[in-house]
Amino acid sequence: MSTPNRETPRPAAGRAGIKKELPDRFKDHRHVWVFIELERGQVHPVSVELLGEGRKLADKLGVQLAGVVLGPPEEATRNAVAEAFAYGADMVYLVEAPLLADYRNEPFAKAMTDLVDTHKPEILLLGATTLGRDLAGSVATTLHTGLTADCTELDVDTDGSLAATRPTFGGSLLCTIYTLNCRPQMATVRPRVMPMPQRADRPVGRVIEHKLWLAEDEIVTKVLGFLPDSQSAKANLAYADVVVAGGLGLGGAENLQLVKNLARAIGAEHGCSRPLVQKGWMPADRQIGQTGKTIRPKLYIAAGISGAIQHRVGVEGADLIVAINTDPNAPIFDFAHLGIVTDAIRFLPALTEAFTRRLSPHSRDKLAS
Ligand SMILES: Cc1cc2nc3c(=O)[nH]c(=O)nc-3n(C[C@H](O)[C@H](O)[C@H](O)COP(=O)(O)OP(=O)(O)OC[C@H]3O[C@@H](n4cnc5c(N)ncnc54)[C@H](O)[C@@H]3O)c2cc1C
Repeated sequence: MSTPNRETPRPAAGRAGIKKELPDRFKDHRHVWVFIELERGQVHPVSVELLGEGRKLADKLGVQLAGVVLGPPEEATRNAVAEAFAYGADMVYLVEAPLLADYRNEPFAKAMTDLVDTHKPEILLLGATTLGRDLAGSVATTLHTGLTADCTELDVDTDGSLAATRPTFGGSLLCTIYTLNCRPQMATVRPRVMPMPQRADRPVGRVIEHKLWLAEDEIVTKVLGFLPDSQSAKANLAYADVVVAGGLGLGGAENLQLVKNLARAIGAEHGCSRPLVQKGWMPADRQIGQTGKTIRPKLYIAAGISGAIQHRVGVEGADLIVAINTDPNAPIFDFAHLGIVTDAIRFLPALTEAFTRRLSPHSRDKLAS
């Protein structure tokens, strides 16, 4: 599929009224790129979410959407190319090299900056994962361009520049950031912030291959092995269909078992608000909210959580939010779909028992023992 290049000249000032003076050397930068992250051979879902977002930006600008795949010469890398097309890319830039087998900053940053220098994208999007944050920072630094991290909204300004919106002042305000006089305009977005696009199953299109101009002895970092983090692997909060979370209203660490019991009874993941992590009651990868995970489950049950703005931004993509809180004026009732004004410490066991009775006698016996 080909998208026509933009023909209409852009106005000098955008909707924010800021006059952006783009130096001539950046005026031939075109197209929207999305970095397709591979996580142990699988395309990270955030890359797919970004392809959906990138498609919208590219269509608004009248340019093409490209996926950028960096990986070893293996089937997983070729699959990632196919996935990029399946989710809307018009073309893919591919760097295949054995040095790209495990993530290391030097070869990935070198591959990406060389691609950017050669093909000059206008916008470059990456997932705000551990890998994406590391790569985005060094690519932006090497290219002397701007990077807006952890965006919650991306749009095209009336003058065609990227309007990257993210929370600021502890999440109490949203600010829109522009990269005024450098290209590409870079942004990272956390998993689950953008919706997952529909798979289009389009055939593989144009793939532009590049070499990695780097040798192993030029790379400082060596990968000795891979130790999976069993704790993090278990906490798949961002992509769980059902999540049960507890907050300070539960009173003590011992009451978190009530949250875990309910989660186990209904096949959910469990999470928490930030103060519980700060108190050491739960590990950081269970935190939900602005500085934790963003979730988009079908059902979210929040017990003893007030619904502060920093928590709200992480959960408002849920289809159904059920809040349990003793205070009828708690902010969480402003955005919950269903509110239960009661003591969560008494209510959670009753709810768990009711679910267990309905769902399976076997799990009820296990819970009672
Ligand atoms: C920069 C920054 C980033 C932040 N990031 C995050 C983040 O990512 N995630 C996050 O969650 N927070 C975050 N916070 C903290 C946030 O502002 C709130 O302080 C926090 O979410 C409050 O947690 P809570 O709701 O558990 O506790 P509280 O605000 O103390 O609320 C407890 C609630 O429990 C209710 N309650 C009390 N007893 C019971 C009971 N027996 N049964 C039922 N309900 C009861 C109370 O009525 C109250 O509403 C951040 C703050 C800052 C400044």
